[in-house]
Amino acid sequence: MDVSYDVIVIGAGPSGSTAARFAAEGGCKVLLVERKRDIGIPVRCAEGVSEPPLKEFIDSHPSFIRNRISEIRLFAPNDIAVVLTPVNSGYILDRRVFDRELARLAIVNGAEVATSCAAIGIKRLDNGTVDVKVLHRGSETTVNCKIIIAADGVESRVGRWFGVKTVTTLHNTEGALTYVLSHPEIDNRYCDFYFGTEVAPGGYLWVFPGGDHSASVGIGCAGDCLRGKSLHEFLDRFIQRKYGGAKILSEVAGGIPVQATLKEIIADNLMLVGDAARQVNPMTGAGIINGMIAGKIAGITASESIKMRSWKKDDFRDYPKEWHQRIGSNHEKYFKMKEVVNKFSDESLNQIAETINSLPESKRTLRKVFMTALIKHPLLLGELRHLF
Ligand SMILES: Cc1cc2nc3c(=O)[nH]c(=O)nc-3n(C[C@H](O)[C@H](O)[C@H](O)COP(=O)(O)OP(=O)(O)OC[C@H]3O[C@@H](n4cnc5c(N)ncnc54)[C@H](O)[C@@H]3O)c2cc1C
Repeated sequence: MDVSYDVIVIGAGPSGSTAARFAAEGGCKVLLVERKRDIGIPVRCAEGVSEPPLKEFIDSHPSFIRNRISEIRLFAPNDIAVVLTPVNSGYILDRRVFDRELARLAIVNGAEVATSCAAIGIKRLDNGTVDVKVLHRGSETTVNCKIIIAADGVESRVGRWFGVKTVTTLHNTEGALTYVLSHPEIDNRYCDFYFGTEVAPGGYLWVFPGGDHSASVGIGCAGDCLRGKSLHEFLDRFIQRKYGGAKILSEVAGGIPVQATLKEIIADNLMLVGDAARQVNPMTGAGIINGMIAGKIAGITASESIKMRSWKKDDFRDYPKEWHQRIGSNHEKYFKMKEVVNKFSDESLNQIAETINSLPESKRTLRKVFMTALIKHPLLLGELRHLF
């Protein structure tokens, strides 16, 4: 590790590695620091991504793709399944390999990577640069830079060091728990989503098959909807019912920020990306691709700023602008839709499923599900009118 860099990226998840890659490709001297010893481990994710947007970043490779899925089933509270007409196919990744591959691409483009290296504080200097204090393999040291890209995930502290308001309410933080389990009944063809107050209040439960009759079976619920019960209770009850006797191979828990993007994702010397900037899709909780898109824009913005020899907040304005044009303003809509959808009763969800199933198979799309929901609940039209 050198003593000074143009850009230090904190956190080597998908957002950070992508930011480091594009900043380095733009000619910056980049250091990517990751507090864990092994990038991508442990996996705190169900590993599902949509196939088309991934192509912008990486060619799909069997080493990090466990399964390819083209069909989705939505299960109403009474267990009626709606099989959606496929629009895009998706992948179930192996993030242990995928995250490492993204970091490798950053290295190939010229970034340096330091693992077992936690950023533990910053100090702004009078010359407009920043000293980052890191704990690297047990020893404290200081590294200087002009720009920090904070990609330190949902528990991000870096933003707060710069005075950015990153607090998320309990309601907008989904607690998520997922098991990887093995069971002969797991259907390798479908990604399944289960809804209802008895299954996953204020969220949903998923089964993402890995292709070998194993699956990530998990649950994400708004923090204030659990009524004193734990995620384990909901998930264990579901597994008992659907996959009795399943062998659990691993268990991970984490938080998912399900809100619109933070109001401020830039400051002097700083850009926030990925979960740290709350760039997860608030309807689905998916954040891998969004974080990579944000990382790319931030990395390019950083390289432009370095070329212009200025790294004030105003020099980074293109980043939030482009982010909102591509994704962020849609997330504001999805956030409001999530709030409305969470008000549906179990009975309404059952009725919607029945109506969709009465349509010809080719018309059973996600869009149709929403339109049917709105027709059944005309009052919601009032709440959603201003979104469209
Ligand atoms: C149970 C669960 C299931 C999920 N399933 C999906 C899914 O199927 N599909 C999907 O798209 N999304 C899913 N998500 C969300 C997805 O995991 C995140 O949105 C995604 O990982 C965000 O990437 P990131 O790079 O912003 O942050 P992260 O992947 O969290 O990476 C942040 C990195 O920063 C490092 N770090 C933190 N602080 C420091 C520090 N001070 N110094 C150095 N390093 C630091 C961390 O160790 C970590 O490696 C799920 C989340 C959970 C919890």
